[in-house]
Amino acid sequence: MNCELCGLSDTKFYTTELEGATMVLCQTCSKYGRVIGEVKDEKKSNFSKSMTISTVIERELKPGYQKLISDALTAENTSIDELAQRIKVSPQELRKIINGKLMPQESIAEKLEKALKISLFENVVTSYKNGGEENHLSFSDVVNLKHKNK
Ligand SMILES: [Zn+2]
Repeated sequence: MNCELCGLSDTKFYTTELEGATMVLCQTCSKYGRVIGEVKDEKKSNFSKSMTISTVIERELKPGYQKLISDALTAENTSIDELAQRIKVSPQELRKIINGKLMPQESIAEKLEKALKISLFENVVTSYKNGGEENHLSFSDVVNLKHKNK
């Protein structure tokens, strides 16, 4: 970039209004007119690439949900068979769920929540950092990546 008036380069430049024209002038020449603003040399400007953080919120069964169910059964003084009837699943299936041998389907877990007035789900927040090349981020930089056995 050169000053449009004296041709000087390698200095700070200002957008200057001079006699009705807008010109890019060096600091010295800009004094002849009215400075509008400083001109930023694009090559020198150091924009850091913006980093994207995407967040995924997933609903998952709480760890130890089996105990939550059996505790609630005890608190409500309800048997597995009674509860199974109320939520319309087989007592065998419900026993497997409580014993941790069977992962309840979402719909069944929701029925259990309602029947026992408990909360079986929790929101798991997973954040992925996704940066530009300059940040040298790779897939291994994924934060809080949960291993799922699904
Ligand atoms: Zn100049």
